[in-house]
Amino acid sequence: MASKQVAVVTGSNKGIGFAIVRALCKSFKGDVILTARNEDLGKKAVEDLNKEGLKPEFQQLDICDTNSIDRLKSFIQSNYGGLDILVNNAGIAYKQSSTAPFPEQAEVTVKTNFTATLDVCNALFPILRPHARVVHVSSMVSQWSGKKCSDALKARFLDSNLKMDELKQIMADFVQSAKDDQVEEKGFTKSAYGMSKVGVTVMTFIQQRELNSKDDIIVNACCPGYVDTDMSSHKGTKTIDEGAETPVYLALLPHGSDIKGKFLSEKTVQDW
Ligand code: NDP
Repeated sequence: MASKQVAVVTGSNKGIGFAIVRALCKSFKGDVILTARNEDLGKKAVEDLNKEGLKPEFQQLDICDTNSIDRLKSFIQSNYGGLDILVNNAGIAYKQSSTAPFPEQAEVTVKTNFTATLDVCNALFPILRPHARVVHVSSMVSQWSGKKCSDALKARFLDSNLKMDELKQIMADFVQSAKDDQVEEKGFTKSAYGMSKVGVTVMTFIQQRELNSKDDIIVNACCPGYVDTDMSSHKGTKTIDEGAETPVYLALLPHGSDIKGKFLSEKTVQDW
């Protein structure tokens, strides 16, 4: 008998991730795992969804902690034997009012949004089942920041031969340029969040090429829109459920979909 299907959503104790879990509980036929770095917050979120009659599972996951990622992987392997949906939603953004120095903002934001997301992928991709769907919650800011980079960098981001190690080096160069106060001279955009999300979107293109349509496994990135969450200081105009729509659409793409290795907004493929 085939194993039960399973979906994992990172950073889903609140905000868009919470709404993605809610929507998947309603429309995905397998189990949905709500994950959070803080166990109490995660369990509270599960209780809130239980009150709506929904039954997500809970697992602790701090994407910046490789032991935590390994524990999640073991849990999925032993309980399900593989993974069907991975939504990489967890992310951070310093507030504009933050007094943290820019080099620190660059290092911490790239580490969480780019490097830790890639670590999750590297751990979990080997257990993706045929027809698995991977969604990276990136941002339109990735598009704006990418466009403001030097022509040489833009060409590299869109180069169909760019390898993951080279992208990792570009992100490391951005962090170093922040430390050296050379961000613009090196061709980058002075936005820690924007550059981290450039990394996430370009990571998507590379991962889909690496998978090479193997077993109909599909990776896409998207912008959820401007959403009313803690991250947007509740200035966003969309509800969290509206913000979840495009990520959930991508998580549930039908077998054989040709939307792959793309960046989408409002369920529409964008030129990037
Ligand atoms: P929130 O700040 O409301 O939620 C972010 C979630 O990520 C929280 O659950 C947070 O956990 C979690 N998180 C942060 N760091 C880690 C970590 N190291 N390990 C595990 N979980 C972590 O933000 P949003 O819901 O608004 O954002 C969700 C995604 O959508 C992000 O990737 C964001 O960049 C993206 N996005 C949001 C937009 C918006 O308008 N809101 C616009 C474009 C993109 P904790 O509660 O413990 O902090």
